[in-house]
Amino acid sequence: MEPIIKAENIKVIYNRGKAYEFTALNGIDIEVFPEEYLIFYGPSGCGKSTMLYTILGLQTPSDGKLYINGEDSSTFNEAQKSKMDSQYFGIVFQNFNLIYSLNVLENITLPQVFINSPKKEREDKAMILLKRFGIETRSKDIPSNLSGGQQQRVAICRALVNDPAVLLADEPVGNLDSESAKIVMETLKDINRRDRKTVILVTHDPSYLPYADRIYFFKDAKIERVVKNRRTVEDEDKTGEEFTLTNQLAKLARVHDYMNVPQLKAWSLTNYLIEEMTVNQTERLEKAMEFLLSGKLSEHGFFEELNRSYGEGGVGLYITTAINYTMKVSELLREVSECLKVVKNNTNDGKMKMVEILRKFLLSDYKGHLTPEQIQTLEKVIHNRVFGISSVQEFNKFLDWPVEEGGVGLNVATAEHLAEKLEIILGQMYSV
Ligand code: ADP
Repeated sequence: MEPIIKAENIKVIYNRGKAYEFTALNGIDIEVFPEEYLIFYGPSGCGKSTMLYTILGLQTPSDGKLYINGEDSSTFNEAQKSKMDSQYFGIVFQNFNLIYSLNVLENITLPQVFINSPKKEREDKAMILLKRFGIETRSKDIPSNLSGGQQQRVAICRALVNDPAVLLADEPVGNLDSESAKIVMETLKDINRRDRKTVILVTHDPSYLPYADRIYFFKDAKIERVVKNRRTVEDEDKTGEEFTLTNQLAKLARVHDYMNVPQLKAWSLTNYLIEEMTVNQTERLEKAMEFLLSGKLSEHGFFEELNRSYGEGGVGLYITTAINYTMKVSELLREVSECLKVVKNNTNDGKMKMVEILRKFLLSDYKGHLTPEQIQTLEKVIHNRVFGISSVQEFNKFLDWPVEEGGVGLNVATAEHLAEKLEIILGQMYSV
């Protein structure tokens, strides 16, 4: 997929040649893909806003290239620039930047006035947005009569009224109390997920990082690292979209940098294990997992890597956690190899044996008791899932459906846990 925005080696030097010359951006590379939610994160003064304004065309880079939809932005004429400003990008600021002598409706319709949209049309558009964000009763008020959170929602309506492809937000909740901040953050998420607009948010607050698909970590005018969020995968799974046996890995592939399928498998398994770990620890765990899966590390070697102190280059896990992780992974890999062995001959017996192995594995940490009838149903739904007859959603549904109605009768949490376990094992068995 081609990026819609691409920054290459961008440099911004303020007050060039003067005694107080200051390099605000020093060799920034950024790619923005359609429909992404990106965060530029870092401490105050590290250059995040400067990058945002460079993308918007308000700041001319001292060096480097900026491409919008593949076109070099330095070649844009005035008309193209103005179109970009008013129709391709929408922006919201920390201080809302509303015009306090105009009412709410007039503030929102202003960008439409500049593109000569008829009055009725622009007011209808504005009212639709006001309704969507729950502030339609305030349309005739002046902004200063509204709370901070409401003013920011007005600013978001104004940013959206020209239906831009990309919404830029510079510390949009920096001046809001936590409740209003949450509403505004959820609004931005909705605009990204439902309207499928690209969102780029600038923030110094780590509590908002989970909202993003990807995060650019800024430090001292540079990008320190880029991180993809795991959460996106869960979000996608909730869309109810049906997926086949192997495209769970394909989904992971879309949100995770990887070179090849073994790496992707290592990541899927790492994901299965981690709870509270730093990004650096996760990366080391993933590396060790890759070595284990490719046979470069034995199980014991894997355990030693996990337990080795972080300072010595290990993952730095407590010995009990390292043992627990090693056992969990070994058990799963053993099941995978058992399953692959029995299905190799592709007979009905082989298939049934595999279903039985999977059933036992899924129930290995289940504390309750299942009747023979429940076990039989469970095996039937495992079979259907494994052989692609049902989707993961259907599998999940059968697990928590009452026994009287043909389900397995598990509680919702257990059903989800088992469905997740089965997807992980299937991910290890098949390649994309
Ligand atoms: P952030 O958004 O990460 O807080 P900024 O991009 O706003 O950082 O600013 C980066 C650095 O550039 C800061 O040290 C800031 O003082 C400086 N800076 C920003 N704008 C200007 C300007 N117009 N002239 C001179 N220095 C500036």
